[in-house]
Amino acid sequence: MLKLSYQPFTLKLKHVFRISRGSRSSTPLMLTRIQFDGVSGYGEASMPPLYGKSIESATQSLSKVDLSGFKDPFAIDEIMQYVDGIATGNSAAKASVDIALHDLAGKLSGKPCYKLFNLPGVSSISTSKTISIDSLDIIRERTIQAKAFPFLKVKLGTDQDHAIIKTIREVSNQPLFIDANQGWKDKSQALENISWLKEQGVIFIEQPMPVAMEDEMAWLKPKSPLPIVGDESIQRLKDVERADEFFHGINIKLVKSTGLNEGLQMAKLAKKKGLKLMLGCMSESSCLISAATHLASMADWIDLDGNLGVTNNPYLGIETKEGKLISNDLPGIGLINPEASWEKLQSL
Ligand code: MG
Repeated sequence: MLKLSYQPFTLKLKHVFRISRGSRSSTPLMLTRIQFDGVSGYGEASMPPLYGKSIESATQSLSKVDLSGFKDPFAIDEIMQYVDGIATGNSAAKASVDIALHDLAGKLSGKPCYKLFNLPGVSSISTSKTISIDSLDIIRERTIQAKAFPFLKVKLGTDQDHAIIKTIREVSNQPLFIDANQGWKDKSQALENISWLKEQGVIFIEQPMPVAMEDEMAWLKPKSPLPIVGDESIQRLKDVERADEFFHGINIKLVKSTGLNEGLQMAKLAKKKGLKLMLGCMSESSCLISAATHLASMADWIDLDGNLGVTNNPYLGIETKEGKLISNDLPGIGLINPEASWEKLQSL
């Protein structure tokens, strides 16, 4: 019999995190565990307040999940169909169940999750490091601190976008990913920004315009000299169906996709449609980050740094060294002795 437990946790950020739509210094998490036959799988939900979810909403959502009727821990499709059907929304809470199930299935079969998916493993995964919106002095300092990373992901969508890029270019030649977080509201201005950014060593642009501006994004796509990647516009599998009308690629995040099961389906559909694939994250612990690395072989661009900017990561998992995630090939998602972390958290 499968048994779900969960506990809230507040992830503290090293620095105030700013993007075009707001700022924060901590992120609420819900940590999950699913037990079967003496084996435990671990999962996580991350709920940046920007998206209207909280520890309360995740608690409410998970309190309705009753896994006691399921006898087969490998029936992940069936279990996630049930979980998804309980209520709409709450993708992060659903992901926390999906990830614990995958961790459990991996441990029960003695395989890392990518092998459950019949995907090749990637021993060393290059990730970008995010530079969020801040004063130019702080941006310069953070850029210098991130020099080991092969890419920087720069948050734009401000009235200082040019100054931010010029400041970064004073101290770095690293190729850049740009994330405007819906910050550009005029299509001609967006095109002008992208044309300028192409000359600054930028590889692609993430979500330049607001989700609701579909006509403008459809206008922008064929004209853009750089690939455009949908993030806020692409939440779940159904959004990938129309993604090629607006974007050259999509950003999959496990807290949006309801976890690895649907995340993998999104990745497969994106490939089939000829879309580029980015793997992204929120502020997260090593649990969600480790889980996401199992889809790495399918991705063109990887931004899995959400565990690096925190001061109280509750888990040890797949580690980042010199800008690369180094796979540990442990069964499941790749956490190291999560039992001890879970017990310690319960005693806090
Ligand atoms: Mg984004």
